[in-house]
Amino acid sequence: MKTATTDSGSQCVDVLIIGAGLSGIGGACHLRRNCPDRSFMILESREASGGTWDLFRYPGIRSDSDMYTFGYGFKPWNDKSSIADGHKILR
Ligand SMILES: Cc1cc2nc3c(=O)[nH]c(=O)nc-3n(C[C@H](O)[C@H](O)[C@H](O)COP(=O)(O)OP(=O)(O)OC[C@H]3O[C@@H](n4cnc5c(N)ncnc54)[C@H](O)[C@@H]3O)c2cc1C
Repeated sequence: MKTATTDSGSQCVDVLIIGAGLSGIGGACHLRRNCPDRSFMILESREASGGTWDLFRYPGIRSDSDMYTFGYGFKPWNDKSSIADGHKILR
């Protein structure tokens, strides 16, 4: 993985991902697997990753589409329930 530091001390990466929600985490995983020579960094403004699924904690929060198609291809959804509670998606 190639990283560089500029004269001003800034770190350079090939790909900068903004946000550690499902999209950012998924993108990072695809980069790690398919472009292992590319450097990347995820910047997340909150103190936790998970985006939507960490932010919203109200009772009853759940997916509204089936998790077999919503889940990552690289980490298939194996739970029995096809509609999942928020904490399961976050996990
Ligand atoms: C109740 C509910 C049910 C849902 N059900 C489904 C479903 O069944 N199927 C489906 O496809 N989708 C569903 N969604 C939509 C769901 O939000 C998205 O599918 C998915 O979780 C979005 O992921 P994301 O990473 O794109 O965005 P987010 O989860 O919003 O993550 C974005 C991240 O970026 C960070 N961020 C934003 N701006 C900056 C910045 N400037 N600098 C640094 N960090 C930043 C945020 O803090 C956040 O962590 C549902 C949403 C809700 C609320």
